[in-house]
Amino acid sequence: EEQLQSSRKTDDYLYQLDLESALHYSINHEIPLMKLIDGEKIQALQKFLTILAGYFPLRRNNVYLEVIHDVVDKKNAMTGEEFSQLAKTTEEEMSPVYSGAPRQWIGCKGSTDSYRGYPCGLWTMFHMLTVNFALEHNKAFVTQIVLRDPAAVLRAMYDYIRTFFGCADCAAHFVEMADRNKIFDVRSKDEAVLWLWRAHNQVNARLSGDDTEDPAHKKIQYPAAEHCPACRYDNDSWNEEEVLRYLKAKYSYSGIKLEGIS
Ligand code: FAD
Repeated sequence: EEQLQSSRKTDDYLYQLDLESALHYSINHEIPLMKLIDGEKIQALQKFLTILAGYFPLRRNNVYLEVIHDVVDKKNAMTGEEFSQLAKTTEEEMSPVYSGAPRQWIGCKGSTDSYRGYPCGLWTMFHMLTVNFALEHNKAFVTQIVLRDPAAVLRAMYDYIRTFFGCADCAAHFVEMADRNKIFDVRSKDEAVLWLWRAHNQVNARLSGDDTEDPAHKKIQYPAAEHCPACRYDNDSWNEEEVLRYLKAKYSYSGIKLEGIS
């Protein structure tokens, strides 16, 4: 992994601040908007928290996501308000660095406040989760059942987006595309990383030139040729082995930049 990092010539980085801002918005704002979290919804939340508790890189190695996970895992239902209180008090008691303070973006900063931000942070977070799952940065916390399922992170993402993502049109598009592209047929954790990369590029292609595109951050087929010349063959088709290397270098814990964090 050290070698992967040192061979990168790019300004395309992963920022801890973006990951934390996305996590914070999801847990403290998006999930609490659901009035009653029961049935498939609580299962979606449990799966999401399992992956977060296992793979989200928290500073100071604290356990607040595990605590939230353990409480939610015992429930059949809870209100969004109850979840919000749980998240808030656990954060304040166990993890003051994460509570309160207004959130900001670096890699996901838009040229105005109406662009980028949270949706960008959410993509970033899920790429980071698929990559670190594939790199087997396991915590003892994660069960064998999860470890043996190459699609575990994609499953958590699919259910999260379908259940909680505030942009309902986006969620409907994503679910339709994921079903069409057989999201749960991936046979290895590396394939899951590439599945999400391919899916995100399809979304980028669809949204290229759309009103929602930040003029300062055009939708591209990622990664840009200048950042990864080896990722494309001469005929412009992808060299997926090199793409996988690039994604692992960018999204692994060892690539995280701590700018903007005190
Ligand atoms: P984003 O597309 O958000 O990408 C974030 C960062 O990820 C980029 O800056 C880049 O560093 C990296 N990246 C880009 N492509 C890839 C890739 N292929 N693999 C790995 N990393 C990559 N908006 C709509 O208007 N309509 C929709 O239907 C819609 N559906 C969405 C579905 C989902 C699941 C999500 C999370 C978001 C969706 N959005 C949709 C929002 C949209 O995709 C963008 O997030 C938003 O427009 C902000 O774009 P951005 O330029 O910040 O880059």
